[in-house]
Amino acid sequence: MYWQDATASLLHTLTGHNRLGLITDVDGTISPIVNQPDAAQVTPRSRDLLRALHGHLALVAAISGRAASDVQARVGLPELVYVGNHGLETWINGQVALAPAAAAYRPALEAALAAVRRQQLPGMLVEDKGATASVHYRQTADPPATAAAFTPVIESIAAQHDLRLYHGRMVFELRPPIDVNKGTAFVQLVTDHQLDAAVYLGDDTTDADALLAAQRLRADGSCFAVGLGVESEHTPQAVRDSADLFVRGVQDVETFLSWLLNTAIASST
Ligand SMILES: [Mg+2]
Repeated sequence: MYWQDATASLLHTLTGHNRLGLITDVDGTISPIVNQPDAAQVTPRSRDLLRALHGHLALVAAISGRAASDVQARVGLPELVYVGNHGLETWINGQVALAPAAAAYRPALEAALAAVRRQQLPGMLVEDKGATASVHYRQTADPPATAAAFTPVIESIAAQHDLRLYHGRMVFELRPPIDVNKGTAFVQLVTDHQLDAAVYLGDDTTDADALLAAQRLRADGSCFAVGLGVESEHTPQAVRDSADLFVRGVQDVETFLSWLLNTAIASST
């Protein structure tokens, strides 16, 4: 079901709560996917809407696989909360806090990065994100073939250095073996900011953890959380299986944010 079909049901209940929070993914959600991750830009309309929503909601936060400082710079609104590295670090009021458990794995990550750089295939882009690392292959000549050829290599590197390997959209991710993900980060934000309702927006496999967390929070009655899956050319099955509602791409996210803002304004007058 698309979000437009739930404004009188699920979303009506959502927006009727007192302490509503908005937690959004960045790439592929408020920022169109581009070939060079460095070139990704948050749409000006999304930025304006997030700024306005900050004045009407209990929390507006952005969460990403990128470093928290990178997310903050890209969204560019210092008043928001930013969770980076899938929950391993948080940027709030100009300070980045790294989870201590993540810092202990930094030497292992550096050794793994060196091994990846020695064996990387042409066109691959290796990104050191502090607590984690990404190996992008979107811009290689044949991404599926590159993925198939490199998977055993990076699996072996991850195993050797006691790191976890994750597969995103055209990207391998190496992370410390700690149980922190967008789902635990989402629950932490709900707790820290005492939200009685929350909406999550995301498009990728790693967002499924948060979409599932939203369902669990709503089921156990601790927070009326709703998960919105953002459709793309290649929506992962995990997102299809775990979202409560769907949004038709980055542009439709803007339409949703605009609806949310108008609803929040209407309910506060
Ligand atoms: Mg994304």
